[in-house]
Amino acid sequence: MKTEMTGSTHDGNGTQVLTIGNVTVLLGDLSGRYPHGNSLLVAGAEERLIIDPSLSVISRRAELGRVDRVLNSHCHEDHIAGNHLFPDAPWYLHEADLPGIQSLDNMMAIYGYLGAIDSTFRQVVVEQFHYTPRPDARALHDGDVFDLGGTRLRVIHAPGHTRGHCLFHIEPEDVLYLADIDLSSFGPYYGDAWSSLEDFERTLKQVAGIEARWFATFHHVGVVEGRAAFLERLERFAAIIATRERRLLDFLRTPRSVDEIVAHRFVFRPQDQVMFVEAVERRSMQQHIERLVRAGGVAEVDPGRYIARGQ
Ligand SMILES: [Zn+2]
Repeated sequence: MKTEMTGSTHDGNGTQVLTIGNVTVLLGDLSGRYPHGNSLLVAGAEERLIIDPSLSVISRRAELGRVDRVLNSHCHEDHIAGNHLFPDAPWYLHEADLPGIQSLDNMMAIYGYLGAIDSTFRQVVVEQFHYTPRPDARALHDGDVFDLGGTRLRVIHAPGHTRGHCLFHIEPEDVLYLADIDLSSFGPYYGDAWSSLEDFERTLKQVAGIEARWFATFHHVGVVEGRAAFLERLERFAAIIATRERRLLDFLRTPRSVDEIVAHRFVFRPQDQVMFVEAVERRSMQQHIERLVRAGGVAEVDPGRYIARGQ
């Protein structure tokens, strides 16, 4: 079996693919930057499946050949944007995220946006990300194995980013698909109603213990070879959580309301202009505040106003 990674220009548009044995990484447009992303095609002797078909897959559908199943690491708009290209194949998501693909209302509950942001983003999800409800989508569970003939894929539940976020380990190629544990400089994203900071932290610890040779992400990074390189990036990625918390404690030297915390920005940069910035800052930093209050590092001086203790 070929275990070396080969890179090649895949088509006239200069689109890149990386090949590791039976695994083809379809590198997304814009270097995999949102709204694009990297998808994986896994072609065993008997079955072929695609993981997280992104917007970038749409122009390449004809080249992919037969696809027997679609696996989504979780139910976010950018990861399911190409699902509609495979209407005859069964679609699979972890049971905890499964409701999201079954109806648009459920999908919107994952984000938890309110009012105008909900209605605007609902339209974006349908028109720009081709959201297609699939009531008969099937459930994945931690430990499920797909045998594709010569290549096997194992499901690893890794919640935090969403409730049902999963990794996939493919053997014998020894590729660990990390989905949105994307090792980016943005850091871990836990800003949705269905995200959990503390689950994400547990997941980051768990992922550090998984042995693999290749580590593939949905955004930016693409493929990292070797555990040492992976662990170094993972550590930098995970450290962003502590940085946000330190900056928050610093900001709370004087009492602040949640609105002030949201306006200050701890997740996005001041120049980032996305419609859901405020909702994501609120959800993310509220989780930090809650756990700091529980641990005694922060006190609520008036209803909704917080101060760091002992400073
Ligand atoms: Zn995501």
